[in-house]
Amino acid sequence: MKLVLATHNAHKVEELKRILGDRLEGIELVGYDGPEPIEDGETFEANALIKARAAAIHTGLPAIADDSGISVDALGGAPGIHSARYAGTRNDAENVALLLANLGNRVDRNARFTCAAAFVFGAVERVTVGIWPGAVLHETAGAGGFGYDPIFTPAGLSVSSAELRADEKNAISHRAIAFGELVEIIRPLLLR
Ligand code: IMP
Repeated sequence: MKLVLATHNAHKVEELKRILGDRLEGIELVGYDGPEPIEDGETFEANALIKARAAAIHTGLPAIADDSGISVDALGGAPGIHSARYAGTRNDAENVALLLANLGNRVDRNARFTCAAAFVFGAVERVTVGIWPGAVLHETAGAGGFGYDPIFTPAGLSVSSAELRADEKNAISHRAIAFGELVEIIRPLLLR
């Protein structure tokens, strides 16, 4: 049984392969190289479903996708669903610099990563959501991860998520929570 992973983001593919690992025994995870749909949903959930639906329709196979981002309380939840292109490009360093500039020296630095994970198989559609609470640092720290990891410190930890080892991040992240739940929904549907 094949399952299409509908993302072109190499970092996410890598994280997801590690997160899903042997929990998908008997299911072959294959990449998606078809057209990317327009993500015009207003929520993480809606956008994850748009991506999974596009891949399922294009390939005729069951598909999974995610939509994720960072939401900062003091910025009214921004950048949220616009995280990937916050600075107008897909450049991580520019996105991070803009977020730090917009937050300035604000005392309230509470933020969270959200990941919506979607599964589409014909008419069957499921979405799960994982939330990873924390705060925005005043400057970058660490070289691991991707995106906003260098300026995000998870609640209860004193390092940035870019300072965590991949296996540490993948055990507790928003993506781990969302896909951990989704896998339990997918398995009985695909491995009947
Ligand atoms: P998407 O590919 O449309 O879901 O956009 C996700 C964007 O949110 C990424 O490009 C990152 O900027 C940010 N993001 C999502 N998850 C993470 C994470 O685990 N670490 C750091 N940044 C993340």
